This record gives sequence, C-alpha cells and structure tokens, in this order.
Amino acid sequence: MLDLAIIGGGPAGLTAGLYATRGGLKDVVMFEMGMPGGQITQSSEIENYPGVFREEPHLTGMELMEPWPKQCMHFGLKHEMAEVKQVKKEEDIFKIITPSQEYEAKSVIVCTGSTPKRAGFKGEDEFFGRGVSTCATCDGFFYKDKEVAVLGGGDTALEEALYLANICSKVYLIHRRDKFRAAPPTVERAENNPKIEFVLNATIKEAYGSAMGLDGVIIEQDGKEIDLKVPGLFVFVGHNVNNKVLKQDDGSFLCDVNDWGEVIVNLKMQTSVPGLFAAGDVRVDAAKQVVCAAGDGAVAGIGALNYVQEHFND
Ligand code: FAD
Ligand code: NAP
Repeated sequence: MLDLAIIGGGPAGLTAGLYATRGGLKDVVMFEMGMPGGQITQSSEIENYPGVFREEPHLTGMELMEPWPKQCMHFGLKHEMAEVKQVKKEEDIFKIITPSQEYEAKSVIVCTGSTPKRAGFKGEDEFFGRGVSTCATCDGFFYKDKEVAVLGGGDTALEEALYLANICSKVYLIHRRDKFRAAPPTVERAENNPKIEFVLNATIKEAYGSAMGLDGVIIEQDGKEIDLKVPGLFVFVGHNVNNKVLKQDDGSFLCDVNDWGEVIVNLKMQTSVPGLFAAGDVRVDAAKQVVCAAGDGAVAGIGALNYVQEHFND
C-alpha cells in the first residue's frame, strides 16, 4: 500500500512530493498523465517566480520546471505516467483507479489544476501565449502603459480588467451582452474607472498579428466590424476545475466542493475527508500562480506526512 498518492504533477504535486518524501514518507507515487511540470510549461515567459529571473531572453515555463522532477526523485518520489480516473475511500483506505491498475493509499493529495476555457474565435489558439492570455497577474506587466482588451462579463473579467487598469494605459472590456454576470459593485467600479471602456453586445471575430505576436482583434458590434489595435487580449470566459477524479459512482464528490466545483480546503489544505488534501489551482480561492501552487503543495505534503504518521503508526 502507498503511503501517499499525489494526483497531478504540476508545481503543487511536485512540491507536495518533495516535502512528503524528504520528510520521511517511503512509498509516495505522483500520478501524472503527461510529463511532470504542469500548465506553466506552456508559457513562453515567466518573470514572477521569486529568485528565478532572466531578463532577456525571458525564462520559459519549461525552463523553470525542468529541474523540479529530478530534485523530487532524488528524495524518493516515484512518477507513474497514468491518468487517474477516480479516487474513492473505503473505510480508512483510499483507492486510486487508473485505466490499467487499482492502487491503495493511506493518504491522497489532489493537485489536478484547472483549465481556462477558450472563447473559440479565429486566431485565439494561434496567438495564445503571444498576445492572447488567460492570466492578468502573469502577463499584465508585459503591457505596461499599453492598450489591452479583456473578453468576458463575469466576475473574473471585471476584476481582472480593474487589475489591468492599474498597469495599462487603457482597457477595452468586450462582452457579448449588455448585462453582466459579475457582482453589481464590481461592475460599478469598472464603469467608474476612467481607463476602462466598455464594448458591449460585441463578439470577437478574429485575432490577427504576425510572427512577432498579436496586433489586434476584429470585433463585431451591431452588424459592424471594428478593428481594435491592441497587442494584448485577455480572455476570461470561465474555467474548468479538474475535479473529475473526485466524482463518485453516484455523481457526488468524495469531499466538499463549492458551487463552481473548486475543492474546499482549510489553511492546512485538508479537505472535508480525513487523509485527503487538495493543493494548487484545483482548490477554492486559488491565486492560480506557480509560487502559490508550490506553497500549497508544501503545506499539503507536510499535512499528509503528519496524517500518515499519526494514523498508521506501523
Ligand atoms: P497544473 O500546473 O495545472 O498541474 C496539474 C497537472 O495535473 C497537469 O500536469 C495535468 O496533466 C495533471 N493531471 C490533471 N488531471 C489528472 C489526472 N486525472 N491524472 C493524472 N494527472 C492529471 N503562473 C505564474 O505564477 N506566473 C506566470 O507567469 C504564469 N503564466 C502562465 C501562463 C500560461 C500560458 C498558463 C496556462 C498558466 C500560467 N500560470 C502562471 C499559472 C500557473 O501555471 C498555474 O497556476 C500553476 O501551474 C498551477 O499549478 P498546479 O500544480 O495547481 O496545476
Ligand atoms: P463566468 O461567471 O462563467 O463568466 C464567464 C463570462 O464569459 C460570461 O460573461 C459569459 O458571457 C462570457 N463568455 C462565456 N463564453 C464566451 C464566449 N465563447 N465568447 C465570449 N464570451 C463568453 O466565469 P468567471 O468570471 O470566471 O467566474 C466563474 C465563477 O467564479 C462565477 O460563479 C463567479 O461569480 C466566481 N468568481 C467570483 C469572484 C468573486 O466573488 N470575487 C471572482 C472571480 C470569480 P454571458 O454572460 O453572456 O454568458
């Protein structure tokens, strides 16, 4: 039986593995369906991970994550390249179900992340990471004193538009309706911000640019096309929380999740189920940053170590 099963090998899962193995847990397996590293490996530049900074050329997400697995494996973390389909708990023991095998574990840390949704307009994928972004905290600074556009009408779009207005010279808020899902006080703050211009009842037809990156977006509004020349477009049309592994046969979740499917944890990353922890983007109120996911992973790794030592003193 495993001491600990970690589901997901991004910054949260790898750091959880490092702390749990280095702290003394023996049989720790990280189930990662791809190469370890997580979603940051898709990013062409990261400049807000403390202590690791390169001005030109920018440090890529792949470069940031490259040494992490080796450090974890040094202390005994094992990587199983498999997609976990389900995690169950029977009495005190967790079952980890993969397509080919079923594992037993004394504790589990879920670090499966979340995935921002794409809006689906032409050029979105082509310019993703080269002007099109889903993270204002990550990429907003690259557009300091420049004009940018934000797509979406929910809380995230409005809050991130306000964040970007602190950095950028102007923010066009493009939304397909004239009513917002965002909370009224947030909408009011955005309306009162002189740097934010609302472009309503409008959809993005196409993002265009060159090999250098995004040059602008073509918007359709009231049957007319508008050419908005912006080097940055932030898409906030919702996100999928990767919580499928917690779904039980009857459709319920193994532990408490909120209305948006985010796993509810306390400050020790403990879920409502003893021995089950969640860390990183999959958890409630996640800042969705590498440094925060790593911090969560450390807390959860220490928590799992204590849990196993207290409950299974063999
Ligand atoms: P993830 O990194 O999403 O890792 C989850 C892992 O779990 C994945 O590797 C996935 O393959 C695996 N997985 C999921 N389900 C299963 C399953 N069922 N079985 C097995 N494996 C599974 N953050 C910053 O701090 N600075 C930045 O500049 C920055 N830029 C970004 C740019 C881009 C393009 C993107 C996409 C994100 C960026 N982020 C940035 C955000 C950062 O990448 C995330 O906050 C961070 O990676 C979250 O870590 P995590 O470990 O919680 O999840
Ligand atoms: P959301 O509430 O689902 O809003 C998504 C927005 O994107 C909607 O305005 C939607 O338009 C628009 N949209 C969806 N698909 C689109 C497409 N293909 N093209 C163009 N626009 C599209 O997502 P969210 O803002 O990420 O919020 C998710 C949940 O987290 C919400 O329940 C939210 O309240 C919560 N949240 C809360 C806070 C907070 O309390 N401070 C902060 C952030 C998020 P329509 O409106 O027309 O459908």
